[in-house]
Amino acid sequence: MLMTPEQYEESLRKLNLKVYMFGEKISNVVDDPIIRPSMNAVAKTYEMAHRPEHEDIMTTTSHLTGQKINRFTHIHQSTDDLLRKTKMGRLLGAHTGCCFQRCVGFDSLNALSIVTYDIDQKYGTEYYRRFMKYLAYVQENDLTCDGAMTDPKGDRSLAPHQQPDPDMYVHVVEEKKDGIVVRGAKAHQTGAVNSHEIIIMPTISMREPDKDYAISFALPSDAEGITYIMGRQSCDTRKTEKLVLDRGNLFFGGHEALVVLDNVFVPWDRVFMYKEYEFSGRLVETFASYHRQSYACKAGVGDVLIGAAQTIAEYNGTQKASHIKDKIIEMNHLNETLFCGSLACAAEGHKEPSGTYCVNTLLANVSKQNVTRFPFEISRLAQDIAGGLMVTLPSAADLKSKDVGKYIEKYCKGQSDVPVEHRFRMLRLIENLTLGTAAVGYLTESMHGAGSPQAQRIMIARQVNIAEKQRLAKRLCGIEG
Ligand code: SF4
Ligand code: FE
Repeated sequence: MLMTPEQYEESLRKLNLKVYMFGEKISNVVDDPIIRPSMNAVAKTYEMAHRPEHEDIMTTTSHLTGQKINRFTHIHQSTDDLLRKTKMGRLLGAHTGCCFQRCVGFDSLNALSIVTYDIDQKYGTEYYRRFMKYLAYVQENDLTCDGAMTDPKGDRSLAPHQQPDPDMYVHVVEEKKDGIVVRGAKAHQTGAVNSHEIIIMPTISMREPDKDYAISFALPSDAEGITYIMGRQSCDTRKTEKLVLDRGNLFFGGHEALVVLDNVFVPWDRVFMYKEYEFSGRLVETFASYHRQSYACKAGVGDVLIGAAQTIAEYNGTQKASHIKDKIIEMNHLNETLFCGSLACAAEGHKEPSGTYCVNTLLANVSKQNVTRFPFEISRLAQDIAGGLMVTLPSAADLKSKDVGKYIEKYCKGQSDVPVEHRFRMLRLIENLTLGTAAVGYLTESMHGAGSPQAQRIMIARQVNIAEKQRLAKRLCGIEG
């Protein structure tokens, strides 16, 4: 089935999540003013699936049941599916101007569809069948899954089993007849409290001594023993203010949370990897490659920022200056380059033994490496075009003030036919995207999400065939052997 955004919201209300923010337990997560915009962004992934003009991108047919499903629950059956995924990311980024959160779960499902199959091939286990049953449940109920990979990691120089605190990586603490008990935490969890399910995966390659940490499983997000602690975002409390103008993006946002698993029970039918440590790295790399492709979302958010930069130039009266025109071209060039990378790794995708299509790893890593840089440059150019007023602008309350509003109307005026409030709103939007709540997703998350820049450089070094390049060079200048 395809849930409507209203059904999605209602489904979240039924969850009994233990969420903390600012030191207090939140009794009504869905209506919390700071969390709500992030729920709105996920709801957009449901809403757009019902629009005929986006049907091709947002929905598809389940290879399991033949039913129409939301693409976010699909297992890629072709490179065309991968290409549509890229387009979906850009579309939603452009419609929300923020992180819409649902891709991590999507990427986890696809990665597990590959790796559970591979483990079974080697060990004759039954993970793939279990996983397919779970997938059918996710598809049938159109669920949002939080894909949880990043452990707190403690001392980075030590392997999981060497950590002074054994909980620095999620691990099994007890094996029972009907399942396992796990403990640990996952950090930076995108959209965690907007999710119905959490899919836990290991975060690094592991060796035999770490086998208790080489586990993957799924939990209902409100399972007993899970606590969510919301991450702060720059300017987050603006969402609690009465006047909405200072928010920049009036409707949408993202969120991240620290997810603590305190002795949580997982039944066997939800366990997808159990101590097969040599597959841990494979799962990490497969998920990471998919998620590096997912960053087509940044091109969508870039569309919003470029639109804002062009508009503020017009409001300021600078739009005809040749250097402004050139900066807008540069922003577009960088933004389309991001889109090209995501499309390229999709187009060059391949079929895995399980039947799932996976992106080209080298190109996905090259694309993500660009993502760690270009949104920063696009933001720099947007701030250059916007001018200093973006950060010295008085508050919306001052704009509306009986006493000083008239001064803001007078001295914050740009082009005479543009209302001051429009200039105000546009500057706040650029502030939101480059310094405020949305900058979490557009900037820092571009840097570290799906692996920090060095992780991609290691993969690039591993994936390129340098010997072949040397052979080509030698042949042309007549060096033998
Ligand atoms: Fe999806 Fe982008 Fe958010 Fe990651 S940052 S979850 S790819 S929207
Ligand atoms: Fe991410």
